[in-house]
Amino acid sequence: MFLGKMFPSHNVTLHFTAGSIWLRMASTFKLHAFELGRCQTNAYVLEVAPNQGQTGASACWVIDPGESPQPLLKFLRDTGLKPEAILLTHAHADHIAGVDQVLGVFPNIPVLAHAREHDWFQDPQLNLSLFIGEPVSVCAPTGTLAHAQKLSLGGIQFQVLETPGHSPGSVTLHCPSEKLAIVGDTLFQNSIGRSDFPGSDPDVLMHSINEVLMTLPGDTAIYPGHGPSTTIDKERRNNPFLR
Ligand SMILES: [Zn+2]
Ligand SMILES: [Zn+2]
Repeated sequence: MFLGKMFPSHNVTLHFTAGSIWLRMASTFKLHAFELGRCQTNAYVLEVAPNQGQTGASACWVIDPGESPQPLLKFLRDTGLKPEAILLTHAHADHIAGVDQVLGVFPNIPVLAHAREHDWFQDPQLNLSLFIGEPVSVCAPTGTLAHAQKLSLGGIQFQVLETPGHSPGSVTLHCPSEKLAIVGDTLFQNSIGRSDFPGSDPDVLMHSINEVLMTLPGDTAIYPGHGPSTTIDKERRNNPFLR
C-alpha cells in the first residue's frame, strides 16, 4: 500500500529497495523514507548535500527510527552518510524503538525530543510498548525540541512547531524554504492522529491541526509518521476529519 503510492510533490523519484523509499526533492535536498516495524512507521533520513562547487560530505538527520531499523542503517552504511542528530516527532514506541541501534553505530550524536516526553523513552507504560507485549526502553534524549526553535541542517533552516494532541510532546519539523513538514502522527493522508491513547487530547489535536498545520502554505508537503505523503491543500480539500 504505502510503497505503491506516488508521492505528490518535489519531482519525486521512488526507489524500492528493501523497504526504503527514496524521494528526490532537489539537487541538494533529499528525503529518504523507510517503513519500519509492525506498525509500518515511517522513519526518515533527511539529507542535505553540499552546494554545487563546494566540497565536503552531505549532512543528515535520522528522524523517528522505529522498530527494526536495519534497512535505514544499511542505507547509512552504503551511502557513508553520518547523521548529525536523531530527532523524534514524539516518543511512542513505534517511533523510538530503534534509537539505541542508531546510537550503536553513531555513538554520542544528540537525541532530540520535546521535554514533555523525555521520561517516555525509558518507560514502556508511557511509550505504550507495554501494551503490545514487548517493552521498549531506549537511551533518554540528550536535548530538547521546543516551539519556534530553529534548527539548521547543511545550511537549510528548520523550525520546530509544537503540535500536541496525539501525544503531549508531539512536534512538527517545518522547513519553510523547501515547503516541507514532517508531522509525526498528528496528520495523515485523509486521516488524523489517534487521540484515544493515555496522554492524548482530541481537542488539543484539532487545535494543532487547524491552528498550526493548516496555517502553513497550501503547497507544503506533509510527511507523516505512517502512510503516504500529502499536502496541506489536499488535506484541506479531502480530509473527512477537517470538515
Ligand atoms: Zn504515535
Ligand atoms: Zn506512530
